[in-house]
Amino acid sequence: MLETLEGLGQEAGEALRAIQDKSELGAWRSAYLGRRGKITDAVKAVGTLPPDERPAYGRRANELKRALEAAYEARAGELEKQSAVSARAADQVDVSLPGRPPRPGRLHPATRTLREIYRIFAEMGFQVYRSRDVETDDFNFTWLNMPPHHPARDMWDTFYTTQPGVILRTHTSPGQIHAMRQYHPEPIRVILPGMCYRYEQITARSEIMFNQVEGLAVGEEITMADLKGTLVDFARRMFGQGRQVRFRASHFPFTEPSAEVDMDCILCNGEGCRVCKYTGWLEILGCGMVHPVVLAYGGYDPAIYSGFAFGMGPERIAMLKHGIEDIRHFWGNDLRFLKQFG
Ligand SMILES: [Zn+2]
Repeated sequence: MLETLEGLGQEAGEALRAIQDKSELGAWRSAYLGRRGKITDAVKAVGTLPPDERPAYGRRANELKRALEAAYEARAGELEKQSAVSARAADQVDVSLPGRPPRPGRLHPATRTLREIYRIFAEMGFQVYRSRDVETDDFNFTWLNMPPHHPARDMWDTFYTTQPGVILRTHTSPGQIHAMRQYHPEPIRVILPGMCYRYEQITARSEIMFNQVEGLAVGEEITMADLKGTLVDFARRMFGQGRQVRFRASHFPFTEPSAEVDMDCILCNGEGCRVCKYTGWLEILGCGMVHPVVLAYGGYDPAIYSGFAFGMGPERIAMLKHGIEDIRHFWGNDLRFLKQFG
């Protein structure tokens, strides 16, 4: 009986030494030291022996059990150390490998379009005027000739803040009031770029945030002819010298008269295609003569001063220039889209 016990001890010891992987340790432990393990059974077997053999057998069996438990702990420690060493070796940097060059960033297509617009208007004497994204209801609506409950307010689905009267601007037009109040009664020639926000369904054609560039010229004797000359020149500098431009009567609360500006389609040259919905024309911006009410809110006497204003969407212009079909690409942060520019 003792011989069988010794043989079992040897077998267990050899099996333990043969283990090379931590994951096999658990199986060894339950095979020998578990509740149904061979060593556990051997310890229990003491009760089946003749009484005079029990003390020697029992002592040896318990000795073996303790020795194997100690051996198990030691082996587990060794394997732990080994795996840490091999993990470190695997992590080691191979200094002979060529480096990974950092990929230089580039400007976002919306920023590139904005800068092109700045450049063209700078050549015509317009300065960039920055204005805040968070506005009051007065700047965004009332002082642009949209008093409370004016039906035109429904044209803009607005993000309201929890503070009454404070909103995210729905257009860059409130910047007109800021610029006029800062400069009056001096003449003004500014463009007002920036992000606008509308609480809208996001589709291929509309986003809840987008850039706008507004333009404003105020002075004595500014006429519709100045407006038309400026915008025709802009369209040709932006899209090519041969471009045809037309003005269509329209309505905005803050300009009178108001117009939409169309340009012959750059994709089909006015022949008619899917992008221009077979009309041959693309709408590029809205404009008009500054409404006397708005001039007065800005601090200018409408009997002496006049002005024109216009607004466009740089993302829409970039979409036309580059044939981009979905406005959601602009703020989707997909590198596959962004890498195509610059
Ligand atoms: Zn077309």
